[in-house]
Amino acid sequence: MREILIEDQIKKIALDEGASLVGICSADSIKEKEFSDPNYLLPGAQSVVGIAVKFDDEKVRKYLSKEEYLPLCYEEGHITKKLKKIAEKIKVFLEDKGFKAFNCDCNYDYRNINKKSKIIVDSIRALIALINKEKDENIELTKKEEKTLIMLKKLILPGLRKTPMQLIPSLSHRCVAVASGIGRVGWSGNIITKEYGARVLLNSIITNAKLTPDKPMENNPCVRCKICEKSCQGGLFAKDSEETINIAGVEETIAKRNNYAYCIAVCSSMSGQNKFKEWSTWSPFRFDDIERLPLDDSVIDYVKNMFVKGIEKGGEQAENVLRLIENTFLGRNDKPAEDFRPSCGFCQLVCGPTMQNKKESYKLIVNSGCIEE
Ligand code: SF4
Ligand code: SF4
Repeated sequence: MREILIEDQIKKIALDEGASLVGICSADSIKEKEFSDPNYLLPGAQSVVGIAVKFDDEKVRKYLSKEEYLPLCYEEGHITKKLKKIAEKIKVFLEDKGFKAFNCDCNYDYRNINKKSKIIVDSIRALIALINKEKDENIELTKKEEKTLIMLKKLILPGLRKTPMQLIPSLSHRCVAVASGIGRVGWSGNIITKEYGARVLLNSIITNAKLTPDKPMENNPCVRCKICEKSCQGGLFAKDSEETINIAGVEETIAKRNNYAYCIAVCSSMSGQNKFKEWSTWSPFRFDDIERLPLDDSVIDYVKNMFVKGIEKGGEQAENVLRLIENTFLGRNDKPAEDFRPSCGFCQLVCGPTMQNKKESYKLIVNSGCIEE
């Protein structure tokens, strides 16, 4: 009887455990770029297995139309957990065969973030607790608490103004997805699959096993409708400009991006509006003193200052900044699935499986109204 190939066994495990798509690429095909060199996480890497799990279209529809918020949040949490679990099964399978394997984090895993800085997160949490107490008319801070509050403000807030806006992932799952034939990069920069549009989340498993790679997809499923660009409340995409990037020998033409700070301000939920006033993301927060983000590079300082202001306000806005910092420093794969709180992601979620779905989804967004402040 013919022996089942190890590549087929890996793919079977992935699909049996709930992956929607799976593919394999060689480590060499993506190692050129710093953010996709698999040797960073597993020295001696030979191959990478890419996996994708799709979103539930009905939950996405209700999220985009603002009918229901939490089901999509939990969905994102559960998909993240599923991706981690599938990757773990593949990792154990490879290790049982005598290979080394590494289960990557799905997201919020960056090279230029010191993950040992748990103390930063704890200090910010303590600062927010004191700010909330100070704002409570029924409570008076003790002398010791007053001193701690001043000290924490001095220690933490200047550091927040130095937050890096360009984070380098430990491994770009998008590069893996292109090289392994899972999808191609669409106009938005998100991975577009033939079957599910951009509505997938990704993870990867790196191994020193030399596996036979799949080929990148020949035709890009992105139809350049630019509905993703039009759905961006943040203003990340530069109008009428494009750029070409190269991943694993595949040339991708994507929308040129303005400073990444435009997405950070909105996708991180610090503001639910920037470019369009007729509708918002799920964030209830708005800018204090300006109508829209600055149109030059001062946007970077403005957005960094938004972190500080959010914390100084205390309450829900401070909690929102804390969530972002906590995810960035500590990751979020191990958080309960019910703790996930996206508020935008519209450029990705609007790009459904068919052209008709993309058009309908866009209509839902622009007619969804505004979340009240
Ligand atoms: S919405 Fe249209 S242009 Fe944007 S990525 Fe999807 S198919 Fe491409
Ligand atoms: S996540 Fe939201 S703000 Fe960020 S680029 Fe996409 S649509 Fe724009």
